[in-house]
Amino acid sequence: MPKNPARSALILFSGGQDSATCLAWALERYARVETVGFDYGQRHAVEMRARQTVRDGMATVLPQWAGRLGPDHVIDLSGYGRIADSALTTDRAIEIDARGLPTTFVPGRNLVFLTCAAALADRRGLDVLVGGMCETDYSGYPDCRRDTIDAMATALSLGLDRPVVIETPLMTLTKAGTWALAERIGGQALIDLIVEDSHTCYRGDRTLRFDWGYGCGACPACELRSIGHGQWMARR
Ligand code: ZN
Repeated sequence: MPKNPARSALILFSGGQDSATCLAWALERYARVETVGFDYGQRHAVEMRARQTVRDGMATVLPQWAGRLGPDHVIDLSGYGRIADSALTTDRAIEIDARGLPTTFVPGRNLVFLTCAAALADRRGLDVLVGGMCETDYSGYPDCRRDTIDAMATALSLGLDRPVVIETPLMTLTKAGTWALAERIGGQALIDLIVEDSHTCYRGDRTLRFDWGYGCGACPACELRSIGHGQWMARR
């Protein structure tokens, strides 16, 4: 039996390591799980392709919960991507700007994603939103902080006139902790799926294969994933 038999969830699913772990976490807990992705013209469009591979793989490595995995949804936010104009959506260098924020920061991204996800969940009759936001290794993104997420949950609950619950299972975990969580839920098979098929690299590079997966090995996302994997392996 799922841990919350009466409940269903919509996972903000990018096809990266964090959201892949969140999807596994949700399949363990909820009777019905659907996924949503956002196409906002990001440079790592390769991530959009990784989504389907990881979803398919999840049914194989977690067969006991495969029946819980419902449809996938993709929302076109290319207009928002053009407004946001960050290093993820244009060819700007990945660096720290005058405000101390990385140029990979897309202003308001999680706020827009959560608003769209809440609308979709309302229409689909899904109880809970699940996102991979994390304030431990959060790359300096202010919209990944739990305070921001709590404020969004309040705003959406008021605006939709129904309780909007946003679960963030990775919020207080280090990246090493995220690898450990995936291993606890799905063992080596889930680790292998995340290594082989999830995509995190900001540059959309899949030419190099490291022990933690594919990427350029140099961008902030690859660095976080690599360091976390090394720390997790060291204490296994
Ligand atoms: Zn990279």
